[in-house]
Amino acid sequence: MTIHGISPDILTALEHVLGQSGVAADAAGMARYLADWSGDHRGGALAVLKPASVAEVQATVRLCGRLGLAMIPQGGNTGLVAGAIDIGAGRGAVIISLERLNKIRLVDADNFILQADAGCILQHIKDAAENRDCLFPLALGAQGSCQIGGNAASNAGGVNVLRYGMARDLIVGLEVVLPDGELWSGFSGLRKDNRGYDLKQLFVGSEGTLGIITGVEVKLFPKPGRVETAYLGLPSFEAAIALFGQARRGCSDLISAFEIIGSECMELARLIDPDVVAPVTAPVHVLIELSASAAIDLRTLLVDFLADAMEKHLVTDAVLAESGAQAKAFWSIREGLVEGQAKRGYHVRTDLSVRISDIPVLIAQARQFVALEHPGWIPQAYGHAGDGNIHFNVLPPLDLAEPEARARGARITAGLYDIVNALGGSISAEHGIGRTRQRVYWVGLSPVHRRLVGALKNAIDPNRLMNPGCLFPSTETIS
Ligand code: FAD
Repeated sequence: MTIHGISPDILTALEHVLGQSGVAADAAGMARYLADWSGDHRGGALAVLKPASVAEVQATVRLCGRLGLAMIPQGGNTGLVAGAIDIGAGRGAVIISLERLNKIRLVDADNFILQADAGCILQHIKDAAENRDCLFPLALGAQGSCQIGGNAASNAGGVNVLRYGMARDLIVGLEVVLPDGELWSGFSGLRKDNRGYDLKQLFVGSEGTLGIITGVEVKLFPKPGRVETAYLGLPSFEAAIALFGQARRGCSDLISAFEIIGSECMELARLIDPDVVAPVTAPVHVLIELSASAAIDLRTLLVDFLADAMEKHLVTDAVLAESGAQAKAFWSIREGLVEGQAKRGYHVRTDLSVRISDIPVLIAQARQFVALEHPGWIPQAYGHAGDGNIHFNVLPPLDLAEPEARARGARITAGLYDIVNALGGSISAEHGIGRTRQRVYWVGLSPVHRRLVGALKNAIDPNRLMNPGCLFPSTETIS
């Protein structure tokens, strides 16, 4: 990977469209756009372009098209699969950052709709909804940095998916600059619109390979007036899955989060806060949250349900949050362990999904695989178990040099993918494919699947200038 130089003529042409403040082509100006959040990947770019309006995005895309410059759309750069940076030794591309397109356009609390520029930070959208007594339920650890356009392009999930769905379920309309510079305006405010193909869904999860999302229209929900959070201790992952099924029924399907945390992950949370103490002592922890907008007595519902679960020995210990601050402290354990992993350094990171009932067998098989074939490596299992989504991550021994750890880590990742594939699961529940999983994704597709996605790509981006190397092979012919 090198940082490629850009010719003075091209630089002048780009600055003509975007002004000097809209173009960074020097190492210092580009640095923060070329490193991903995890520190695992660094990329190269000819320049970083920062359009400040939809018209500037269109002009930029048209110019890049004329110059034959490959374009990589970038949101908050929190994606974990190198989709927004070029880590390949390719021909060099420009990064198009959406950060200056950052206005909330409309909050329509009567119709429960919000429209925003694609570069709006997710947290700002959540705050704007809350100010109008509404909820925008997409919630993830990176919400202070990721952008709504990036959330749409990567079909983000997060902790509330089991109640509200993924980004795909929350998006009502999109506005997209196509690879030829034309604007497709797909805002309608309509929750039901059954006129032919649902084009917005083509762009959701397309990871910047079909165009640049410039605007997003999302569904809002009534803000829950009541939230109850509890941190539970359980004897096993089997008990956790049995508890989930019973909790859906026993708590009137009012669960908004159900996170599983293997107790071994506490070490990671302590890397961020050395004083953190798990509220329970048990092999498996569950963070459960119930929420409702109406005057439903969630507390009694949860207490009664947990009493029954303890009688059945599914739960051995339970601490109910007595305040918002205590609930926040429970959540900071869950968020801290993700940050703790990043702080520890390189590790195998996965976001696997299987049928919910297969979670215990996935974890058991993956642990056995690591113990037998990669002794010394430390497995960690946690995730949005209510969606069948487990992050089975594996930490290298601390004394292993990083190059060796990465080489071994690639083999461990492949082994974990074999296990999830044998269970009929997915190698990506939520982070997407990007560049790090491009090969394994592409070879795993059936010929007819490959033909269909290839036909879509060729029809919309015939010159293959949008995010080459991400999702699709950059050198082979897509057929
Ligand atoms: P980027 O990383 O900038 O880009 C992601 C992809 O989208 C790239 O392919 C890029 O080219 C494309 N893209 C970005 N913006 C646009 C645009 N405007 N138009 C077209 N293409 C675009 N993800 C989850 O799903 N669930 C989680 O719970 C979760 N938790 C996380 C926790 C942490 C601490 C971190 C660091 C990440 C987490 N992620 C999670 C991953 C990540 O935050 C999400 O995938 C997020 O949606 C990425 O948004 P972004 O703006 O940072 O996009």
